[in-house]
Amino acid sequence: MNRIDGKIAIVTGGGSGIGEATSESLAASGGRIVVTDVDEEAAIHTVDIIRQRGGEAIALHQDVTDEGRWAEVIETTVSTYGRPSVLVNNAGISGVGQDNIEESTFEQWRAIMNINLDAVYLGCKHAIGQMKAEGGSIVNISSIMGIVAGAGPAYNASKGGVRLLSKSLAVYCGNQGYNIRVNSVHPGFIWTPMVRRIAETSEEVSTEDELYESLLLRHPIGRLGVAEDIAKGVTFLASDDSSFITGSELVIDGGYTAV
Ligand code: NAP
Repeated sequence: MNRIDGKIAIVTGGGSGIGEATSESLAASGGRIVVTDVDEEAAIHTVDIIRQRGGEAIALHQDVTDEGRWAEVIETTVSTYGRPSVLVNNAGISGVGQDNIEESTFEQWRAIMNINLDAVYLGCKHAIGQMKAEGGSIVNISSIMGIVAGAGPAYNASKGGVRLLSKSLAVYCGNQGYNIRVNSVHPGFIWTPMVRRIAETSEEVSTEDELYESLLLRHPIGRLGVAEDIAKGVTFLASDDSSFITGSELVIDGGYTAV
């Protein structure tokens, strides 16, 4: 189940948290992985782990907001391994500290939209051009905050945008006769560096333990997620076991949005 043997996958933001776990899971499932991150050292660290476990991967520096770099990343992927058939648009930033629209600036709004939404558009655009000949699977990491409010206007809007962008592209690819599936994944709170950093700026909690306890209350399952919880879902969507799933949203949230 969930094997992706022979598939070539690009994972953005692959140096940390969900992107790291996803890169490792895809490699363990037989894929050859191009791990990209704006933090190149972090991407190299993920690749080292994959190789130590006998997997195949390369690390590339990539700022996902740079369209020219997307073209180069695809080109390097093709010349190193061949045509990519999986893209995981994972890189993103949080909207912590930007709950109050009246005190926010347009620059703050644009910074979040640029990385969390505009870059997903760029990744999809460049990947579809490559994948249309032989098919593929694009997985876009949205959030429960793309379904319900609670993380500030820019983060909510960016992740809601990813949800519907994915559906729009799923329909487009189907109509074009491309064998490309496009789906979004909606994690609840996952205990990654992005979430742990909330404790540094929060006015409600002062330690990571307090943060964990406060977030726990919103997850009926009784724990926060770990990056591997999301990685397993992404690997399923990347594999041919999900071949009838497109335009869909996979919610992995311990029951957060069920309440
Ligand atoms: P993370 O631990 O902060 O990892 C994100 C990675 O993306 C980091 O290595 C980061 O580098 C990199 N990155 C940031 N900006 C980038 C850019 N412009 N170009 C390329 N890479 C960039 O975060 P995470 O928690 O794993 O989150 C991964 C994705 O899941 C994000 O899209 C996030 O919105 C989404 N998500 C997370 C949660 C959660 O609870 N953790 C819940 C729902 C959705 P730097 O560290 O150098 O910035």
